[in-house]
Amino acid sequence: MQFKDIVGQRDTIQRLTSIIDSGRVSHAQMLLGEAEVTMPLAWAYLQYLCCENRHDGDSCGECPSCKKIASLMHPDLHFIFPTATTSRVKEKPWSGEFQGEFRDFMLQTQGRGNIDDWYEALGIENKQGLIRELDADSVVSALSLKAYEGGWRMMVVWMAEKMNESFANKLLKTLEEPLPGTLIMLLCESDERLLPTIRSRVQTIKLKTESGETKEESNPEFAEMLVSWLRMLFKLKMKELSAQVDKMAGLNREQLKLFLQYALKVMRDCFLNSAAGVECHLGSGDEKFDAQFPKMITVNNIELIEEALNDAIFAVERNAYAKIALMELSFRMSKALKKR
Ligand SMILES: [Zn+2]
Repeated sequence: MQFKDIVGQRDTIQRLTSIIDSGRVSHAQMLLGEAEVTMPLAWAYLQYLCCENRHDGDSCGECPSCKKIASLMHPDLHFIFPTATTSRVKEKPWSGEFQGEFRDFMLQTQGRGNIDDWYEALGIENKQGLIRELDADSVVSALSLKAYEGGWRMMVVWMAEKMNESFANKLLKTLEEPLPGTLIMLLCESDERLLPTIRSRVQTIKLKTESGETKEESNPEFAEMLVSWLRMLFKLKMKELSAQVDKMAGLNREQLKLFLQYALKVMRDCFLNSAAGVECHLGSGDEKFDAQFPKMITVNNIELIEEALNDAIFAVERNAYAKIALMELSFRMSKALKKR
């Protein structure tokens, strides 16, 4: 991967190349932004770092190092990423078990795959992937080895927010006593879940989104699902509602969480529309509904609605039974809508 293969992100690329050009490469760095953007950047960055013939602010793409990094076959480049049990790996899943799958996935998507794409490629169905203690042991051993190529030993932690506590504690030790010639790169979509002690030990580069549009907003399936659910909350016919809830509960956990976050954002937009006339687009395909619905969200119910949605998001994160969480949410929302 070369910087020239990346669309946009010119400011970030300039910052990354200047870190390397100035020879002040920190041993722990974090790229904060969507996985689709951070992975290609990290890939091009490490290729630039190892290139034997850098020129014009990019790697050459031709030297042996470039070729090894481009094919993700560099012996000193290691990846840690979330995993879960699969039909093949029935217990103790960790990144080491899935290196081949991960490399294929990244080569196929050219680093632009996101966490849902990865879970699908991995075939973990509705389970939540995690980065665990076993992964941490591999960080320590890989980084304490002598570099095969005599250069940097590089460890990329993809979707770092998926690390559990024992991984975080071991990582912290490595960050506190860095080995010379090692580079740990965390790629993270949201750093709120990282220990503050980790955040304070990494040099963070926060990425700008290209369009300012979030992933959830661009999912037309979510818009359709949300609108049909909202319609049902007014009449509350149990049979129909139950079928609708089944459909929503059929999303995998990550998707369901994104859907609920999307719903929360739409509710806030609707409130801003009714309270302050800020434009909002429900995208139901029914102009009357789009015009009428935002009026239902007022100062009298926005807090109740936010609370109900946040509780549901929390329940989904905690692996609660999705259908029950969604039924409860439906009743609370229905009640709140009547309070306008
Ligand atoms: Zn090169």
